[in-house]
Amino acid sequence: MLYYDMYYLVLVLPMVILSMWASAKVNSSFKKYSKVTTRRNFTATEAARQILDSHGLQNVKIEAISGNLTDHYDPKSNVIRLSDSVRNSTSVAAVGVAAHEAGHAVQHAEGYSFIKIRNSLVPVANLGSKLSIPLIILGLVLMGGESLFGVTMVYAGIIMFSLAVLFQVVTLPVEFDASNKAIKVLDEGGYLYGDEVKDVKKVLGAAAMTYVAAAATSIAQLLRLILIARDRD
Ligand SMILES: [Zn+2]
Repeated sequence: MLYYDMYYLVLVLPMVILSMWASAKVNSSFKKYSKVTTRRNFTATEAARQILDSHGLQNVKIEAISGNLTDHYDPKSNVIRLSDSVRNSTSVAAVGVAAHEAGHAVQHAEGYSFIKIRNSLVPVANLGSKLSIPLIILGLVLMGGESLFGVTMVYAGIIMFSLAVLFQVVTLPVEFDASNKAIKVLDEGGYLYGDEVKDVKKVLGAAAMTYVAAAATSIAQLLRLILIARDRD
């Protein structure tokens, strides 16, 4: 009952479909722009290096990592890790991905406010996503017996869930800003031609959409939980 109610169909399911669409879109645009080579013919690693150096971040290392689309910036060791298909590629898609990760390193160095908020939310968001659903399910069972304890548990679970939602919402400006920083250097530094900048924007825009869809799904889920609790209350 909890998983296939009316609120699920009306609120959550459309967002799940949106997420699937966004994920298909990012895969197809990555595939498409992996075949488009940047005309100045530099690698993704070189692009990331240029962005880092232009912000005085010669200390940030770029390392290799196995896997597909595993590229990330690790703030703990202050290292960018680029996957095999990205690292030595001169494609628009690879340059975009590497530049985006360099954007995260720049945010970290500049003490970008949303990254600080996001990092401080990590432990509570993890706890929230682990505890929320068990609390809500147990609370709903107890609520059936008209227990005040059950009601309290359900609302505590909802508050826990909203912490995880908040984390996903705060992730959005972080992701958009990293891409903006990347595009700015690639464009103004003359690394890419105008049409290539547009292509990079398409790849990074598709990637950002997956974060938007994930946040929208969580918000819909939160709304659904609140409505379920209210109906039973
Ligand atoms: Zn990112």
